[in-house]
Amino acid sequence: MKYSDDIIKLKGIGEKTAKLFYKLGIYTIKDLLFYYPKNYQSFEEPVKIAGVAEGETVTVELFLPSDFKWKKLRNLTIGTGICSDGNDKISVSYFNVPYLKNKLKVGSSFLFRGKIKIENGKYHMDQPVLFTWDEYTEKMGQLQPCYGLTAGLGNKAVMKAVKQALKELVPDFENSSEVTDDCDAGLFGEILPEEIKKEYALASRSCAFWQIHFPKDWENMLKARTRLVFDELFLFLLSVRKMKEYNEALCSDYPMIETAWTKRFLEMLPYKLTNAQIRVWQEIEKDLLSGMCMNRLVQGDVGSGKTILAFLSLLMTISNGYQGALMAPTEILAAQHFEQLSSMTKQYHLPFKPVLLTGSVSAAAKKEIYRQIEGGEFNVIIGTHALIQEKVKYRNLALVITDEQHRFGVRQREILGEKGGRTHVLVMSATPIPRTLAIILYGDLHLSVVDEMPAERLPIKNCVVNISYRRKAYEFLTKEVRAGHQVYVICPMVEAGDADMEGIQNVTDYGEKLRMELPEDVHVEILHGKMKPAEKKRIMEAFSRGDIHVLVSTTVIEVGINVPNATVMIVENAERFGLAQLHQLRGRIGRGKSQSYCIFIDGAGKEKTTERLKILNHSNDGFYIAEEDLKLRGPGDLFGIRQSGAMEFKIADIYQDAGLLKKISVTVDRMLSEDRMLESEKYARLKQYLNENAGNFIDFRTI
Ligand code: ADP
Ligand code: MG
Repeated sequence: MKYSDDIIKLKGIGEKTAKLFYKLGIYTIKDLLFYYPKNYQSFEEPVKIAGVAEGETVTVELFLPSDFKWKKLRNLTIGTGICSDGNDKISVSYFNVPYLKNKLKVGSSFLFRGKIKIENGKYHMDQPVLFTWDEYTEKMGQLQPCYGLTAGLGNKAVMKAVKQALKELVPDFENSSEVTDDCDAGLFGEILPEEIKKEYALASRSCAFWQIHFPKDWENMLKARTRLVFDELFLFLLSVRKMKEYNEALCSDYPMIETAWTKRFLEMLPYKLTNAQIRVWQEIEKDLLSGMCMNRLVQGDVGSGKTILAFLSLLMTISNGYQGALMAPTEILAAQHFEQLSSMTKQYHLPFKPVLLTGSVSAAAKKEIYRQIEGGEFNVIIGTHALIQEKVKYRNLALVITDEQHRFGVRQREILGEKGGRTHVLVMSATPIPRTLAIILYGDLHLSVVDEMPAERLPIKNCVVNISYRRKAYEFLTKEVRAGHQVYVICPMVEAGDADMEGIQNVTDYGEKLRMELPEDVHVEILHGKMKPAEKKRIMEAFSRGDIHVLVSTTVIEVGINVPNATVMIVENAERFGLAQLHQLRGRIGRGKSQSYCIFIDGAGKEKTTERLKILNHSNDGFYIAEEDLKLRGPGDLFGIRQSGAMEFKIADIYQDAGLLKKISVTVDRMLSEDRMLESEKYARLKQYLNENAGNFIDFRTI
C-alpha cells in the first residue's frame, strides 16, 4: 500500500463508506493519517455519585437492586432502572437497546459511563455506555480519539480505518527497534536532521503519528502534537523563504501607469476613505507603478473596509488595459463581490466588465464565459479559488486578488499568468495576527495594515449568557425583526452527530426549532457548507435582499459577508469557538448605522469558559482578543479549539504555537544561510519530502 492510494483500498471500506470519507475531504491514505482527532475522550477512575455536577460525564459503578423495567412506546423500547452506588441512587434509562434486557438484571453490577443530569436533587443518566470491570480497566488511562464525523460515518469506523493505515504505513515505534529509517519513502520516515531533532527534543515522526491518533496519555499526545506542529511550521516556513527569494527579483510583465479613473472613483464614493485606507492604497499604487511584481498582504480587522481597496486596485489594472481576478474562499462571498462591483459599475459608469464564475454555471455557459475571458471581453473575473485557477485562459491577467487569504505558490502563479506570466498578487486577510507573527508567516509578502475603522460605526453591544436565556434572546430577535432588521444564528454543527455531541446545537435541527418557536411571519432559513452551491447562493441572495429574517448558519458565514441590515447575532455553543474566530463571526454585524447586538450563548456554563468569553465583552479589537484568549488558557485546554478558522494549518495554531513558530523561523534562517539549496547530505530526506509534497501550500522548487 502507498500513501497516495485511495482509501477504498483499506479493508472494510467499500464504495459507500469511501464516499463518506470523501465528504470529509479524505481521499487518500495520506489524507486519513493527517486527519487528526478533534479531541480525545479519557476514561478516568470511576467516581461516586455524591459530588458530581450536572452535565459532567463520569463513570460510576452501579448495583441493580431490581430488574430494569421495559416498556414500549410507539416504536421506542424504553428501559428504566433505579441503581445504587452504595450510598446514592440514580435512575438510568435506555432507548431502543433491547439486547441489554438480559444484562440489566437484579443483583448485577456494571460500570456506567455517561452524562449526569440532576433534576430536583435527583440524579439521572440517559443511555450510558456499559462496561464490565475488565473492559473498563483495559481502557482506563487511555485516550480515545474523537474525529470530526459526518452522518453515516461513526467514530469507530474512522478509528478502525486510521489504525489499519498506520499499521500498513507507519512503523510501530513500540514493536520496531529502528523506526526512523526503513519506512515508506519520504512521508513517514524521519525528515529532520538529527541536530534539529535534538535541539527541539522532538519525538520521532512515526511515533508522533501513532500517538496523535492513539495516545497512551495526555503527555504523549502533547509530545506528538509538538512534533507534528514542528514539522508543519518548519516545512511551511522553508517554503515561505523560498517564495520570498523567488518573488523578490520578479520584474512585472504588466507595468502600469497612473490613470484618472481611481481618483475619479474616489471622488464619487459616498464616503471618504479612512486615513489607514488611504495609506494602504498608496502602498498598493506604488507597487503597481514600480515595474516589479506586487506581492502584498493587506491585513485589517473585519469591517475595516478592505473591499474598496481591492476594487481600486482592479480599477487601476483594467484602466491600464489588463485583466484582474478576484478570488474568494466561498461562492457566497464571490457572488457578493460580484454584485457589489456590478452595481458600482452601473452607478458610477466605471469601465469594469465583470463576470462571475461559480460552480452553478452550466457547462455550456461556462464554455462561453471562458471564450469571452480569453477574448478579453471581460476584464474582471470573480469567483472561487478553484474555478479561477482551473481551465480558464486569460488574455492578459495582470492582478490576482485573493480575499480572506490564500497562499500563492509558484505553480499557481504560472497557471494563472499562463506560460509564466508574472502577475501582481494582493492578498487580503482579516485574521487577527500580531505584526511580529505576520512578518514570519507572510515573509514572502509585503505587509499593509488597515488599522482604523470607518467612522459612524456604533460599537457592537455584546453579552455572554447561559442557555436559560434563550427564550429572552428569541424575544429580542423577534423585536429586532419587527423593527426591520435581520439576524444571524450560528451553530457549530451542520446536523445531529453521534451521542458525544449532546448539547451541541446543529443548524438543521435548530432551524426547525426556531420555525416552531418564532411567530409565523418571521422567515427562518438555514445555511451550511454541505448544501449545494446553487442553494447556498439562493439563500444568501434572499438574505441580502431582506427576504429572510433569521439565518441559522454554521461558520460558513464567517468570512467576508456584508449585509449591513443584520443587527443581531446569536452564537450557540460559543464555548466551542476560539475567541479570535468568534470575533470574526461578530464582524458580520455592526456594519450599518443601527446599533448591533451579539449574544454569545455559553452551552457549557463552566466558570472558566464564561470568564474567557467575557473578554469579548470588553473589546472589539481582534488582535487584543486573540492574545488575551491565549493568556487565559492552559496547555490542556488548547487542543481542539482553533483560533484561526482561516489559516491553512492542519494542526499548528498560529496563536497557540506562536513561540515555537518564532523559534523555528530563526532555525530556518540559519539553515538557509548556511546551505541555501539544502545540498548537504543531512538534508537529503527533507529535500525528497519537499519535492514529493510540493504544492501543499507553496511549491518548494529549486528556483
Ligand atoms: P472588510 O474589511 O471586512 O472586508 P468591507 O470592505 O466589507 O470590510 O467594508 C465594510 C463596510 O464598510 C462596507 O459596507 C463598506 O461599504 C463600508 N466602508 C468601507 N470603507 C468605508 C469608509 N471609509 N467609510 C465608511 N464606510 C466604509
Ligand atoms: Mg472582506
